[in-house]
Amino acid sequence: MVAATELRKALPTRHRVVLVERESSSVFAPSLLWLMTGSRPAEQISRPMTRLEKNGVEVVRGEIERIDPGKREIVVSGRTLTGDYLIVALGAELAPEAVSQAVRQMVEAKGIAYHPEHQIQEVAGSGPRLKCMNGAGASFDLLAYVPAHRAPKVVRESGLVGASGWVSVDRHTLETQYDGVYALGDVVAIPLKLGKPLPKAGVFAHAEADVVARNIVRSITGKGKPASFDGAGGCFIETGDGKAGLGKGNFYAEPVPEVKIHPPGRHWHFAKVLFEKRWLKRWF
Ligand SMILES: Cc1cc2nc3c(=O)[nH]c(=O)nc-3n(C[C@H](O)[C@H](O)[C@H](O)COP(=O)(O)OP(=O)(O)OC[C@H]3O[C@@H](n4cnc5c(N)ncnc54)[C@H](O)[C@@H]3O)c2cc1C
Repeated sequence: MVAATELRKALPTRHRVVLVERESSSVFAPSLLWLMTGSRPAEQISRPMTRLEKNGVEVVRGEIERIDPGKREIVVSGRTLTGDYLIVALGAELAPEAVSQAVRQMVEAKGIAYHPEHQIQEVAGSGPRLKCMNGAGASFDLLAYVPAHRAPKVVRESGLVGASGWVSVDRHTLETQYDGVYALGDVVAIPLKLGKPLPKAGVFAHAEADVVARNIVRSITGKGKPASFDGAGGCFIETGDGKAGLGKGNFYAEPVPEVKIHPPGRHWHFAKVLFEKRWLKRWF
């Protein structure tokens, strides 16, 4: 969505910019936490995809059934679309991230028990109880669970996926091994020096989309400077009671990411509310 909108703004109108999406609306994921706690109704955090058309982006609604990166061709609900450039940003079909010590302290300070290195075996059908592979168990009133996730099937079958199970790209340009084909966001795995991939976060997807759009515009029009994704980003960490923290830094720093966790305060919560409003207004 970000790449399509930026491309549309920067390219002469004779170039078509087509966005393919199976859902009718886009949800602002960071606000899903507020949806869960009842402080946002669903309609307040989602917008119809068709609103992107006001900027001249062609929105095609349908399921992408096949991707042929060699031909820069996709099949959407039986219809074949071919482009000069193809950006694959299909997200994930849902790996738990390691949480830093600072996050751990925040969680434990609120009386929430943290159990690293526990793999869920099953959620008992008969009652609200979790079983772990190591024999440990826990009961719950509300379960918010992040199941293991992987690249969508259509991407796994496209030849774009590397040994990691995710799309391999150049960490600065998001180019795949196919000419004119880029991938960004949750569907890519960018290995970091510390042995883990770049976290899957909208802030990175957004920055990557900007880079890809600028480089495609440059390749078509010859205008602008080469853009490069530098691994910088930050994310609000909602802690409840009207407060949030902020984790921000350079994830490409070596040997380990340089990330600073700003402790929770009301100002970060309001900054997130403002960010939500600006995001929904800017893109829709
Ligand atoms: C609860 C929650 C809270 C989050 N909070 C934050 C936060 O505070 N900050 C942050 O930076 N990140 C946050 N994230 C992560 C962020 O939402 C993702 O990293 C980001 O959305 C990834 O963008 P993407 O474009 O790669 O994938 P997505 O946003 O998942 O978009 C992929 C799109 O592709 C479509 N699609 C997939 N397969 C097909 C197909 N075959 N045919 C047609 N369409 C298809 C999907 O419908 C989807 O709309 C949060 C995520 C969740 C779940």
